[in-house]
Amino acid sequence: MSTYAYLAIRCDVAGCYAETHTSHHVDTYTELRRLRSADGWRTRRHPRGGPLLDLCPDHAREETRRA
Ligand SMILES: [Zn+2]
Repeated sequence: MSTYAYLAIRCDVAGCYAETHTSHHVDTYTELRRLRSADGWRTRRHPRGGPLLDLCPDHAREETRRA
């Protein structure tokens, strides 16, 4: 029996259902986020603290333009 599981990250912008994962074996979300950042996925710290926010490439670009 395998305990292998795919990790996936999902865009945290309301109404966006973009999702990504990797076929490489990764043990942590940190590792997965590092891999996906090559495709434009970004992770933001929540302004008021709390869980990290993941942004798909489209929303990451918007965020950059606004800043
Ligand atoms: Zn998005």
